[in-house]
Amino acid sequence: MHTLVCVKQVPDTTEIKIDPKTNTLDRSSAPTIINPYDAHAVEEAVKIKNKFGGKVSIISMGPSQAEEVIKKCIEMGADEGYLLSDKAFAGSDTLATSYILAMGIKKIMEKEPIDLVFCGKQAIDGDTAQVGPGIASRLGIPQLTYVEKIKDLNLKSNTVVIHRKIDNGYEVVESKLPCLITVEKDINDLSYSPLPNMIRAARYKSTVWEISDFQADMSQLGLKGSPTSVRRIFPPPQRPGGELLEGDVDHMVKLLTYKLKGDIVRWQL
Ligand SMILES: Cc1cc2nc3c(=O)[nH]c(=O)nc-3n(C[C@H](O)[C@H](O)[C@H](O)COP(=O)(O)OP(=O)(O)OC[C@H]3O[C@@H](n4cnc5c(N)ncnc54)[C@H](O)[C@@H]3O)c2cc1C
Repeated sequence: MHTLVCVKQVPDTTEIKIDPKTNTLDRSSAPTIINPYDAHAVEEAVKIKNKFGGKVSIISMGPSQAEEVIKKCIEMGADEGYLLSDKAFAGSDTLATSYILAMGIKKIMEKEPIDLVFCGKQAIDGDTAQVGPGIASRLGIPQLTYVEKIKDLNLKSNTVVIHRKIDNGYEVVESKLPCLITVEKDINDLSYSPLPNMIRAARYKSTVWEISDFQADMSQLGLKGSPTSVRRIFPPPQRPGGELLEGDVDHMVKLLTYKLKGDIVRWQL
């Protein structure tokens, strides 16, 4: 069983600030972390490896510092990591990102087949949830999105049954392998990494692929391959604080009615 997880290094959005002058994200204001949804995807892939055997590979597109998130995944129990890093990839939107990642996945598949591809539901910085489905369609495999539970994985019939989150419940969906799954955080609880994994991670060097390692269509990556343009990024306006009504219940009900209906009921009070 060969599972591959797409992992993105993201700024910790609880710390990030928006530059009020330029309306852009001040990425230097925040430390970088593994995208939280992707950590749950890695945890699930390692659980599958522990149950069925096989291996877990990681792929990430980003600058050389993104190697840190691959090391984090090795610490969590992944076996191999591939970093796609080249200036030509900079400025890629979700369409181009999915092209580059699919290209990397196909190259890994030339060495050995992949049974399952995992992605996070979304990245906490870009928040589009488009990259997973984009990769699946480029690979021509089924996609199972918003997955909160893997109910059954059957290697004899080569199928997976999952629970997929929907409003007020979940859908049960079965798919043939290989397929791509995007995960919710509810899928598992993260466990602590054992010491031997930490030691291996500290020494681990990812395989780094640059643009020259691929026969890429240059019109599909970087700024050239990115039809999206971001006009403005801004924090939502702060809501005014609520108002606390005081007094006995009758008075508060009258006051609330007055406030809600305004002048119409003023004469009744
Ligand atoms: C015009 C434009 C230019 C941009 N330029 C840059 C830039 O120069 N540098 C930059 O960092 N961002 C840039 N971005 C943002 C970048 O496009 C997105 O961050 C990226 O495409 C992923 O989209 P998302 O964050 O919405 O991911 P989502 O679609 O929400 O991510 C879903 C899942 O896909 C996988 N995934 C997503 N991205 C990666 C990745 N890089 N590696 C591995 N797995 C991944 C993860 O499993 C993730 O959980 C740019 C965006 C636009 C529109």
